[in-house]
Amino acid sequence: MKREEMVLACCSDLAGKVRGKAFSASEFDKRLRRGVGWTPTNVQITCFDTIAESPFGSLGDLVLIPDPATRVRVALGDTEPVEHFVVGNIRHTSGEPWEFCTRSILQGALERLEKVAGLTLFGAFEHEFQFRNNTGDDSGAFSIDGFRAERGFAGVLFAALREAGVSPDTFLREFGRGQFEVTIKPQPGVAIADHSLITREIVQAVAHQSNRKVTFTPLRDPAGVGNGVHIHMSFLDAGGKPATYDPSGRHELSKEAGQFIAGILKYLESIVAITAPSVVSYLRLTPHRWSAAFNNLGYRDREAAVRICPVSDISDIEKASQFNFEFRAADCTASPYLQLAALVHAGVQGIEEGLEMPVATEDDLSTLDAAALNARGYVRLPQTLEAALERFATNSLVRSWFPNGFADTYVKHKQGEMSFLSGRDPAEICQAYEQVY
Ligand code: GLU
Ligand code: MG
Repeated sequence: MKREEMVLACCSDLAGKVRGKAFSASEFDKRLRRGVGWTPTNVQITCFDTIAESPFGSLGDLVLIPDPATRVRVALGDTEPVEHFVVGNIRHTSGEPWEFCTRSILQGALERLEKVAGLTLFGAFEHEFQFRNNTGDDSGAFSIDGFRAERGFAGVLFAALREAGVSPDTFLREFGRGQFEVTIKPQPGVAIADHSLITREIVQAVAHQSNRKVTFTPLRDPAGVGNGVHIHMSFLDAGGKPATYDPSGRHELSKEAGQFIAGILKYLESIVAITAPSVVSYLRLTPHRWSAAFNNLGYRDREAAVRICPVSDISDIEKASQFNFEFRAADCTASPYLQLAALVHAGVQGIEEGLEMPVATEDDLSTLDAAALNARGYVRLPQTLEAALERFATNSLVRSWFPNGFADTYVKHKQGEMSFLSGRDPAEICQAYEQVY
């Protein structure tokens, strides 16, 4: 039987889900201008496939225009079909970026960074995930037998990522049951988020190919180990040179890097609704899970919201190129584009305000009461999605970083997600998210 090869033109939506429309691969070049039609109300489709209150109703038309730089074509098996998709930007039919296009929102934030500080963001997302249907996994964390069990998966994954234009870095058996982690090499600008999307989808595609199921959900059961997203960031100057490291700066951070981190920490309680945007996110963002519960900087501390990552004196890579910091109050229920946009805006705000370089904490902040935390300039991050949304919705400066109408629509989207879960206990909430992420 004849079969045409199909390409999916897709986007990462407010729920962090990848959605799109497919066309024949033979039309790829034509579709770079024509795109595919898109519907405004799609933005209110929650991760549970319910539709939250929409300001658009049945009205309006948009176009999703593929960016050929993101084209992924990977042959996973010996036979067709191949995995073939391309990420795009959603535009009005006039060509203007649509206010709810997450990729355009990130591009706007990156332009602000470039304009204010002359810097390009350079970074990578680090992803943890768990196999859902290997109940017999009793291998040890970081163990050779755990790795051996998935050596085949890892080899196919690395080849597929490379073919997709992503440079894989490491693969490891993480601490949780059936949990693995994949890291990838850094990229400049919007490609940081593109490569996160591609990595998540290639992990899913490789699993699908062998009838496995994986989940990136932040927490599979309330007492379990979380799946985090760690967003590694550094800067390049106008000449493409690393601009994050300054051996004479506090914690060896350059002035702009310190101000950028200070901005993230200052606005964190108001943007965590975007970086960790689901009900289950807040079951993970609790002390002693190696996630993040406070707005602190840590020097190589895995419980800090922002951690300065290790550099080595003996590496073949020069220190300035190794130097980076990671944001840890993030998970895979978010669009990587929105996560990065929120972080970049907060960071640039910190540069604009000339904030002071933060001092890294070395103690356990969970032992302090609210007054003691406050005296040191820290807050406990919001403990529910509702509380996080309240902080986001009421911070007019943070709202102003996003296009007109974005904040209210985002909050309604999330309210729709919360109402789907009403009446469920934490275990049932975990189960619901595990089905969809
Ligand atoms: N699994 C932890 C999390 O939920 C992170 C562990 C690590 O430091 O890699 O974020
Ligand atoms: Mg990890």
